[in-house]
Amino acid sequence: MTAGADQDRTAPGFAWPAGFRAAASFTFDVDAESAILFADPASAGRRSVMSHQAYGPRTGVPRLLSLLDRTAIKATFFVPGYTAERWPDTIRSIRDAGHEIAHHGFMHESVAAVTPDEEERLLLRGLAALDSVAGVRPSGWRAPMWEASWASAEILARNGFRYDSSLMDADQPYLLAVGDSGGLVELPIHWSLDDWEPYVFLPDLSGSGTIASPAEVGARWALELDAMAADGGLFLLTNHPFVSGRASRAAALATLIERAKATDGLWIATCDEIARWVETLALEPVDDRRPRLPAD
Ligand SMILES: [Zn+2]
Repeated sequence: MTAGADQDRTAPGFAWPAGFRAAASFTFDVDAESAILFADPASAGRRSVMSHQAYGPRTGVPRLLSLLDRTAIKATFFVPGYTAERWPDTIRSIRDAGHEIAHHGFMHESVAAVTPDEEERLLLRGLAALDSVAGVRPSGWRAPMWEASWASAEILARNGFRYDSSLMDADQPYLLAVGDSGGLVELPIHWSLDDWEPYVFLPDLSGSGTIASPAEVGARWALELDAMAADGGLFLLTNHPFVSGRASRAAALATLIERAKATDGLWIATCDEIARWVETLALEPVDDRRPRLPAD
């Protein structure tokens, strides 16, 4: 028996580990060239555009690893298979620093419009790349473009994944129903906690040309951090090394991490650590179904 789609996602009975009232997780999607090449393969011929993306693995990741070392927290890095194959030393440096590596597609493909068989093929291709480059078997997946399909949860569970981080309908983690096999942990995200929207400008490809100040973005995220901590939720931030690996943005991020560390009762953890905790709670799985369109 599973709860209906109208289940209260603030989950009565949800509890953080003893001594904590809320949680925060800092995540980095190492898209590098993959997201742009998937959106526009012809951009491979635009050297400056490619260099904009290469800033992530070449310069952003080293700066962010140093920042995470200084602030003494562990983070989760979602890595497309193509990024792993193109930047193997970068991915191994993330692994060697003790951070979690999770799955983020192969070529950063949206799976919302492909068949389940094709979606599973892409998942396996990404797994093979992370294994061959870093010897990593990820426990979590985040949909490229944040575009999961209605088949994603089943495919992930079938392939031994512990969690997904692609959906936007809750403040706290919950369990997605998957067949009769129990549930897949969902760690919810939101566009307001992603650095791409305020910061990215790539002519003809992304952004309006209005690039926000890190002071403003840091203040915006601090508001959400404080409110989520007060409400017992999960503050799940998504940054990209090619975006937030730049100097003043990384500095603002470090300030935010220090604020999180100074927040009373806030558990700062990787996605895998949070998913393992949620699995111990025996929550009722949420059984969402694709909406049916009206007949007329
Ligand atoms: Zn991405």
